[in-house]
Amino acid sequence: MQITNLNPADEIGASGWLLEFEGHRLLLDAGIHPKREGRAALPLFDAAGDQDLDAVAISHCHHDHVGSLPVAMRRWPNAHVFMTELSYFIVERVLHNSVNVMKRQREELGVTDYPLYTHHEVDDIAPQFQGFRYDREIEWAALAKARSGNPSPTLEFRDAGHTLGSAGIMIRGQHTTLFYTGDVCFHDQTLLKGARFEDVEADILIMETTRGSRPPTPGFSREQEAERLLTAIQQVFQRNGSVLIPTFALGRTQETLALLALWMRSGRLEPQPVFIGGLGRVFVEIYDLQAHRTHRHHSNLQLHEALDLSVLDARKLNQLKLSGSHLFVITAGMLSENTAAHDLALRMAGDERHAIFFVGYADPSTPGGRLKVAPAGAPFFFSTTGGELTRNCELQEFDLTAHANREELLDFVGQVMPRVVVLGHGEPEARDWFERQIRERHPRIQVLQPRPGERFAV
Ligand SMILES: [Zn+2]
Ligand SMILES: [Zn+2]
Repeated sequence: MQITNLNPADEIGASGWLLEFEGHRLLLDAGIHPKREGRAALPLFDAAGDQDLDAVAISHCHHDHVGSLPVAMRRWPNAHVFMTELSYFIVERVLHNSVNVMKRQREELGVTDYPLYTHHEVDDIAPQFQGFRYDREIEWAALAKARSGNPSPTLEFRDAGHTLGSAGIMIRGQHTTLFYTGDVCFHDQTLLKGARFEDVEADILIMETTRGSRPPTPGFSREQEAERLLTAIQQVFQRNGSVLIPTFALGRTQETLALLALWMRSGRLEPQPVFIGGLGRVFVEIYDLQAHRTHRHHSNLQLHEALDLSVLDARKLNQLKLSGSHLFVITAGMLSENTAAHDLALRMAGDERHAIFFVGYADPSTPGGRLKVAPAGAPFFFSTTGGELTRNCELQEFDLTAHANREELLDFVGQVMPRVVVLGHGEPEARDWFERQIRERHPRIQVLQPRPGERFAV
């Protein structure tokens, strides 16, 4: 089997893996780099060559895994696109939203490459999308009308517990099996239960390494971390301040809202409106509507009934007075420019009554990442449009991650017992940690860290 790493960057970047084996070509994920602008954010599709592609399989609907799908489809217009049935309900909304964001960035930041694709193109490729249940073996090359004449390899989506619809992907050929973790979470979250990868075994394992450089905190429990968040919110409200929790629209928003809903239901948090972003609101509805086919806790908790959700648009934001204990769970986890979360942070940061609580990753080179480490009272550079900022508000980080801890992933390697582990979706230090650990524990496993654009045989 030949594998090509299409990620343009030596970090989490944009996911994209080309597999070539037994006369078939399959692309795993077609992401976009969340920190790069314009064409530089795309996977290295040129490194995949011009030959036809049978299919694209999407692990989940986060931008770094699906955001360049229409560009991939321009190159391989006949490829079928496979995903889980839950992702099927989400994917077009994510891509259309991405067109809107790119158009806005073209106007406001002058990125002339944008949009990298249009609403029309998203609509045009949609008929090629097919959704499948978890744990169902699909003869994908037969569906993609294999030209090779070889028997079709199969593909199976396994619940990855990371976000609604997320999957690890098992590929079975005649001679080789490969498992791709996508983004995976082994522990239960408030809503989603952990990954169901129990019986996964494969010759080759492509694995995410997001938390490789993060040692476990002694005595840490997710429940305690949630309690700490509740106490912190209560304290802000006691001093009549507002709380901003910047989150990603898909996954983190709904998990955070579920905590708030449970606290309000049990009387531990005063019931009050929660302001959220438009796209986050759409995904709340999909989480609610698909609750019955999701492997999750609180299947009867309908967020849109349990909470008084109010969508915060730019007009509403400008009119809103921040004093008086508001609760914002707003899209743009890294406080990227031209988002309501960015503008809210700008308004809240100077006032010591308010608080900004991070519940997920914010890259150091983003406004969110810079704010996260900003000392109180000293001016720092926040963003191009926001300029310099002095942070007086409270700032805290809560570890409510949707990614597997590194020890769990290491145990998973021991379970899969592959011949080869390919490390991806992580910063260099994170991958290096895994490489050292795997070599030590399992000296017979070959560990690879392919460079951007590298094609290699396994
Ligand atoms: Zn993800
Ligand atoms: Zn990811």
